Amino acid sequence: MISLYDFLNAANGQLFGEPGAQLFTNFSVDPYLAEESDLFVALHAERGKTQDYIAEAIRRGVAGVVCTYPPDCDTDGVSVIMVRDTFDAMMAWARFVIRKYQPNVVAIAGSSSKSTTAQATAHLLSQNHQVHRGNIGISGRINVPLSVAGMRPDDEFLVIKLDVEKPGDMAAIMDILTPQVAIISHIDCHHPSAFSDCDQYIDEMYKLVEAVPEDGLVVLNMDDTNIVPLADVVRANLRTIAMEAFGTDLMAYNILPDIARTGFDLRYGSDRFVARWIPLLGRLHLYSTLSALAVALYVGIPIDDGLRALTKLKPLPGRLSPLRAKDGAIVIDDTYSANMISTQSALKWLKDIKYEHQVMVILGDMDDVAENGHAAHRAVGKEAADVADVLITLGGEAAQTARSAIDHGTDSSHVFTAHSWEEAISFSQRYGLGENDLIYVKGGRVSRMETIVRALLADKADEVYTVRFVADESDEAVSPSQSLYPSWVEVNTDTIANNIQILKSLVGEKVALCSVVKANAYGHGAVAIARVAMSNGADYLAVASIAEALELRDAGIDSPILVLSHTPLHAIRQAVRSNLTVTVFDLEQARAYDRAVRDMNAPLKYHVKIDTGMGRLGVLVDDALHMFRYLDALSHLELEGIYTHFSVADEDLSFTREQAYAFKRVVQAVRASGFAFKFAHAANSAGTLQSSDFHFGMVRTGIAMYGVTPSPGMDLPEGIRPALTWKTTVLQVKTLPPGHAVGYGNSYRTTEAEKIAILPVGYADGLRRSPRSWQSVLIRGQRAPLVGRVSMEKCAVSVQEIPGVMAGDEVVLLGRQGDDAITADEVARWLGTINYEVLTSIVRHIPRKA
Ligand SMILES: *Cc1c(COP(=O)(O)O)cnc(C)c1O
Repeated sequence: MISLYDFLNAANGQLFGEPGAQLFTNFSVDPYLAEESDLFVALHAERGKTQDYIAEAIRRGVAGVVCTYPPDCDTDGVSVIMVRDTFDAMMAWARFVIRKYQPNVVAIAGSSSKSTTAQATAHLLSQNHQVHRGNIGISGRINVPLSVAGMRPDDEFLVIKLDVEKPGDMAAIMDILTPQVAIISHIDCHHPSAFSDCDQYIDEMYKLVEAVPEDGLVVLNMDDTNIVPLADVVRANLRTIAMEAFGTDLMAYNILPDIARTGFDLRYGSDRFVARWIPLLGRLHLYSTLSALAVALYVGIPIDDGLRALTKLKPLPGRLSPLRAKDGAIVIDDTYSANMISTQSALKWLKDIKYEHQVMVILGDMDDVAENGHAAHRAVGKEAADVADVLITLGGEAAQTARSAIDHGTDSSHVFTAHSWEEAISFSQRYGLGENDLIYVKGGRVSRMETIVRALLADKADEVYTVRFVADESDEAVSPSQSLYPSWVEVNTDTIANNIQILKSLVGEKVALCSVVKANAYGHGAVAIARVAMSNGADYLAVASIAEALELRDAGIDSPILVLSHTPLHAIRQAVRSNLTVTVFDLEQARAYDRAVRDMNAPLKYHVKIDTGMGRLGVLVDDALHMFRYLDALSHLELEGIYTHFSVADEDLSFTREQAYAFKRVVQAVRASGFAFKFAHAANSAGTLQSSDFHFGMVRTGIAMYGVTPSPGMDLPEGIRPALTWKTTVLQVKTLPPGHAVGYGNSYRTTEAEKIAILPVGYADGLRRSPRSWQSVLIRGQRAPLVGRVSMEKCAVSVQEIPGVMAGDEVVLLGRQGDDAITADEVARWLGTINYEVLTSIVRHIPRKA
């Protein structure tokens, strides 16, 4: 509870207008997570969004607001407190309340597993005391006031984790509270970047230990060599813990790691307690448990009672927490945070459990490894190599881990480096784990690996057991759907589904529909589109290469797939194994295929491609009949279809009719000579839309399925719509003075003062630079023209005519925003090309969101 007058008092604040509520249940610092009856604190937000945040919080019904400037929205009924500095105000309030209620403070500090230590300690203390466990989801000094906020006047203990992020933080915290108990169990010398070296970080821990009074308690882990010297400055009672090392007060030994629990024996003085266990995984959690036991002993809880109570602990979200994944696999969610100690310790645990099924390890960039980043990520790779059957990394730093794992012997075909959540998820799904296989996921807060865990879960309802990210002082509100990439493609799969249904009803039940998903489904994302297509009336899929076909198979798509282009001989057995259909256009090619697969269990399915006038791939009409005579003898091949491709179905109907006629002659002749095959097909989208004369037994539609017309002159059937939007956000907005240059080559100069927005997209993403470039983008529903040259990963637009543009605004490069839309056709005109090329030039690594 937070009282309005306590806050005004403690923080030297002033009321703005008439106060509303006088009591608040909690602080909120993220407007998007604010709840009614909260006191919203407008911490310094980057990008000048403070006013927006306040308005949002009020819209969500908060009872009070703490801010430095008067809100510019309606604050009727809301208590508005003005202070000089919102962060300082919270800290001053925390100090005030702790002095007023005088709880016994149990402070937990160090580099790792503070939350679990806090959880275990609070759990044991609550056996016979009134305990408030502070916030465990937030790091930084702000955790102190956030933790104090939930405290009640009759709480005897406040268990709180203390984070230091820069020199001096601990002294500042000690000014707010005096701990009765301090626990330090790990110090990671790869720790925060604001410290010049490890000693400077350890100095902070000295500040804590020295502050504990003589009748208090300090618990130290003697297995950590960085911690041992701290024992010398302890004034309070000292309890030491260790594993498998005599000479400490509490020692765990005979440790038995397992997938569901950790078994151990315990020595306390001369007493032994054998065959004990905790339902938590990994050694770090065992240290947490020993620390908690030391505190329990200090407050008079018998050790046996403590040990028993510990078996009731539940793993905290994201701290080695086992959850059920799809296909009977198990995911170990360790995504709350990651530094060297916790990552290495977890990998050690994976090794120790000697897991008998497959182990997939998914690692994101670690937090707080500062200038040691490379070394730290590489070091982890060595250990990952030891335990992972397959390793997926996400992010630029973690890629070092992948490389190092390969250097240490992991088969490179089992190592994937992803650069977006979507990629990592699709890699993991393509690999295909099964019953009881293990997926271990970890990464620093920045990599937000909980997103991956959620995608892997068997039951969506289990999401409540995953990490819920709470923005802290330094973070903006980040929605979990945001990607690590600065731009992304959104595809409306409902639209695609609808388009396919329309095309299917157009060709009718008797004609099969083949969805062409080559070139990453025309830039839309092949796997997602293939799935939508097959569940909305498509009968067949077509891709250009066997590589594309295997991507679909790897994703678990088992529909028939036709490979339209050439399949190299060395890949032909793979084609049979994966039940793919290949294209044959040459007798020698067919003979070589036949020899290559003759000892296989299944025949190779193929379609023969006839060149009826396009002059590209295919056997010429006159040679086709000759070829078929010999194909008959190839007993390991199975003819499933014959097809041709139209070159001008979008414009020249008479040429297309000639092609169709020539094709029909070949089909009839082949049938007459005794061949039976399932499909004759010719029409692309244009042919499909032109006339049912071109449909034969199957049509192959690409572009129309994506809601885009085969050529500017052709209309699409009623109801078919485009589904793709390419988006980014504004990086920076500034007003340049007259005569100021923009971009490489100074090719653009402002004539008068002009407001310019910088966007994080360039030609490396597919935003073409020359000879003709993209012309404009949509911001706030209006057109913003590109100015200056497009850079590799940046470009500039003029927003002079669009009021209110701010950093963070959503930008549409392709697709609809508000009442306006930039279509692939329009961009094609700008660039002097066709809409197909526009769609497929959005580079593949940009995440696609269905
Ligand atoms: C790409 C392709 C298609 C699809 O063409 P759209 O014009 O996009 O419908 C059909 N058949 C073949 C052989 C292709 O290569």
